[in-house]
Amino acid sequence: MKVAVVGAGAMGSLFGAMLAEAGNEVWLYDVWLEHVQTINQDGLKIEREGKTRTVEIKATVDPQQIGQAELVIIFVKSSRTKSAAETAQTIADSNGSVMTLQNGMGNADIIAECIEPERILAGTTSHGATLLGPGSIRHAGSGPTTIGAWSQTEDGLRRARQFADFFNRAGIKTESVADVHSVVWNKLLINIGINAITALTNIKNGQILDLEITRELSRNAVAEAIRVAQAENIKVHDDVVDRVFKVAEATALNRSSMGQDVDNRRQTEIAAINGFIVREAKRLGLPAPVNFALTALVQTLEYHYR
Ligand code: NAD
Repeated sequence: MKVAVVGAGAMGSLFGAMLAEAGNEVWLYDVWLEHVQTINQDGLKIEREGKTRTVEIKATVDPQQIGQAELVIIFVKSSRTKSAAETAQTIADSNGSVMTLQNGMGNADIIAECIEPERILAGTTSHGATLLGPGSIRHAGSGPTTIGAWSQTEDGLRRARQFADFFNRAGIKTESVADVHSVVWNKLLINIGINAITALTNIKNGQILDLEITRELSRNAVAEAIRVAQAENIKVHDDVVDRVFKVAEATALNRSSMGQDVDNRRQTEIAAINGFIVREAKRLGLPAPVNFALTALVQTLEYHYR
C-alpha cells in the first residue's frame, strides 16, 4: 500500500514510521525543510523508553514527488488543516482515502471541502509522541486508535474496516466503529476539560484536581460542551466529567498539548477545541460563557507572545 503523511511532526512521523516498518511504501510530506533533509540523510530517529531506533523513510517538501497515494493521513495541527487538505487533494489517487486523527472538531469538515466525504476517515488515537528536533521524535505512549467513516456511508464503513485491518497488521492497534462522530466528540470533551485550563495556568494535568474551584471550572466548560453535543444528537458518555478527571489523574505529571504549545510560544488548537464549542453554541442559540472566556484568554495569550 502506498501511504502519504501530510504533516510529519511528532504523530505523522510516528504513524508513517510504523507503516513503513510493516513494509509499506510511505512518504512523509512536511513544510519544514531541515526536518525533511535530516530524515532523508540520517533516517528518522524514534526514542522509546530510553532506546532509539532509526527508520529509513522517504520525506519531501514537494508533494509532486510523491505521486498518487491510496491513503493520505493528515497530521498537521488543526490551524493548518485547510492547506493540508489542499495538498491531500493533489496526492490522494482518485479513489484514495484521506484520514484525520487530529485533535479538536472541524478537521474532517474542512477536509470535506477538498475531498468527497465518503473518502474521509476520522478518528482518535491514544498514542502520544513529542518532536525532539529535526529528524527526531519520542514515542511517549501507546494506546488504541479508533477510526470510522465521516460520512457513515456503506463505502466509508468498508474503507474504515479495511484501514483498521491495515493498521493492525502494522502493529497499530485499531478498531473501526460505525459512529465515529461520537468518538471524536467524546475525545473533544476530555480536551475541553483539561487543555485550556492547564495552558492558561501553567499547571500539569493532575493539578486540575487540586482545588474545588478548578474542578468546577473544568466541569462547567464540559457541561456547556455536552449541551451542544446533545443538541447535535451526539451520544456522549454518561460519566464524561468523571472521565475528564480520570484522564487528568492518569496523566497527572504531563503538560497538556495546549500547555506545551503555550510554553513554546506556538499557535494552539484552541479554535478547534473550546472555540468550536463557542461557535456551535452561538449557531444553536445556547450559552457557552465558560468556553468563550477560555478561548478569549488563550487567543489573547497567543497574540501577545513575544
Ligand atoms: P507537530 O507540531 O509535532 O507536527 C505538525 C507538523 O505539521 C509539523 O512538522 C509542521 O511543520 C507540519 N506542517 C505545518 N503546516 C503544514 C502544511 N501546510 N503541510 C504539511 N505540513 C505542515 O504536531 P503533533 O503533535 O504531531 O500533532 C498533530 C495532530 O495530532 C494535532 O491535531 C494533535 O492535537 C494531534 N495529536 C497529537 C498527539 C501527540 O501526542 N502529539 C496525540 C494525539 C493527537
